[in-house]
Amino acid sequence: MGLTGIEILKMLPKKNCGECGVPTCLAFAMKVAAGQEDIGACPYVSDEVKEKVGEASAPPIRTVVLGSGDNKFEVGGETCLYRHEKRFEHPTGLAVLVSNQMDDDEVAARLNRFNGLRYDRVGVELKADLVAVKDEAGDEGSFTALVGKVREECPDAAIILMSENPQTLKAGAGVCGEHKPLLYAATPSNVDDMVAVAKETECPLAVKGGTIGETAELSEKIQGEGLKDLVLDTGARTIKAVFEDQVVCRRAAVKHKYKPLGFPTITFPCEMTDDSLTEAMITSVLIAKYAGICVLSDIQGDVLFPLLLERLNIFTDPQRPMVVQEDIYPINGPDENSPVLITCNFSLTYFIVSGEIEGSKVPSWLLIKDTEGLSVLTAWAAGKFSADLIAQFVKKSGIEDKVKHRSLIIPGYLASIKGELEEELPDWKIQIGPREASHLPSYLKSWQPEG
Ligand code: SF4
Repeated sequence: MGLTGIEILKMLPKKNCGECGVPTCLAFAMKVAAGQEDIGACPYVSDEVKEKVGEASAPPIRTVVLGSGDNKFEVGGETCLYRHEKRFEHPTGLAVLVSNQMDDDEVAARLNRFNGLRYDRVGVELKADLVAVKDEAGDEGSFTALVGKVREECPDAAIILMSENPQTLKAGAGVCGEHKPLLYAATPSNVDDMVAVAKETECPLAVKGGTIGETAELSEKIQGEGLKDLVLDTGARTIKAVFEDQVVCRRAAVKHKYKPLGFPTITFPCEMTDDSLTEAMITSVLIAKYAGICVLSDIQGDVLFPLLLERLNIFTDPQRPMVVQEDIYPINGPDENSPVLITCNFSLTYFIVSGEIEGSKVPSWLLIKDTEGLSVLTAWAAGKFSADLIAQFVKKSGIEDKVKHRSLIIPGYLASIKGELEEELPDWKIQIGPREASHLPSYLKSWQPEG
């Protein structure tokens, strides 16, 4: 059971110094209890307290880290069943499979797609995360050569090493060095040797049983031998069975604190179908419910992009609106005669509006006002995009030094504040922009300054 805020408070030094970034020890304790702060943020707590609170407040599903440095990949750490209860912590990792039985061209094409299929969306780079390297040929030499190729050509990919032979996995882990791979997998028939290799290489270990029950037994045994970083494969290879297992694992860990299943999972849509669209459909189900990693047979843009978007939507923190920074954004190389538009800092609004301006090819200045991530009408209703606040921002933004004219285009939905805003900004003429961002290109192409 986790500790309460009051129990944690009793262990704090009660200096109320604010060095943890929270004004008081009580507020800090409450945040630690809610999982919003790490106990280590207080520089005055002892190691003993850190360990005690850390263990008690550890998430029911362990966070497992692969890779290294800036290229680390985290999976697990989940604390709830439903996103609206808090948030989902680590997006499902998407992996592409390569093996030492594929010809060189096929491997090169898959690795190229891994590197090339990257998308920028609302300021976030969307991409696949892992490469699964499989020893299909049962040959250590070609396996380690392939691992080396993946490391060299895809330096930011986390790696899953797949072999039935523990010594082959050990050799592959040696090639990865500090860039810790996931060793796949310990099974009832090789568990002792796999545990020895995982201990020696200090790599996370996948645990594969024939059923969810067998996987739990194996996980318990391996934990008993001192390994903590595990990833579970329940062995299911149909959509119905794998879906059920994901839900059972999450529910058992989160609701019942059942430790043998308190680890992230790995799933294999690549082994459930030969049809790429069916594979994508299975993966989309598993992203929603609750796979830690999905291994795909291949990645193509038409399949990967919608999966990445689905993942972005599900793993965005619902309690924290996505925002962009308050600033002046030059688009298409504006000058002193270019139009000036203003909108809110809800990132979706920003990217839609800036995208339309960019597409219009009209050089423009886009002012982004901090509205705490609220969209235009919501921000206006909440008093965060009112005439006086817009005026304050326009005056301090520095836009008056960048343009000769004094015409400000406001979103069409805010037409009612035109008069008020002109009172607040007497040097400026307020122009009403279109209601829909999609109408911006034609509006901008015929735009003329008034002020
Ligand atoms: S740094 Fe520690 S002592 Fe200071 S306010 Fe935070 S919890 Fe309290």
